[in-house]
Amino acid sequence: MIEKTLSIIKPDGVSKNLIGDIIKRIEGQGLKVKAMKMIHMSKEQAKDFYAVHDGKPFFESVTDFMSSGPCVVMILEGGDVIKKYRDLMGATNFEDAEEGTIRREFATNIEKNVVHGSDAPETAAFEIGYFFNALEIVG
Ligand code: GDP
Repeated sequence: MIEKTLSIIKPDGVSKNLIGDIIKRIEGQGLKVKAMKMIHMSKEQAKDFYAVHDGKPFFESVTDFMSSGPCVVMILEGGDVIKKYRDLMGATNFEDAEEGTIRREFATNIEKNVVHGSDAPETAAFEIGYFFNALEIVG
């Protein structure tokens, strides 16, 4: 089924000059970039984005991290794209991620793990709407 997902190259991925490498991997899987921009979230915007994690021990830290520098946000489209992109990213904790995944290769720790990808159609719809309006999405 053709679906969409939200991808973020997090501040650590941008500062490590990994934008091109990550997009190459995405396109190499046959996934299409339908929208893309660079943003720098405020702390409040990061808290709203990760509201589902409010109350968890890492909430303050991860929202500090996500607002610490620019991110690249993209909408990806393709068959089974939500799962395909999460497979490409690897597990949240890079030590558990499979060889060859983005997080396994480039993450620093469980928090600075380079990329984000939506985990279900409902979260993808919320996350896409959080960053993009209809005019910014091609097709
Ligand atoms: P994801 O869907 O794989 O990104 O994982 P989650 O939705 O569970 O967590 C969101 C983000 O919070 C992760 O990608 C990490 O950046 C961060 N995170 C998750 N678990 C931890 C943790 O135990 N400690 C810290 N410091 N950050 C975490």
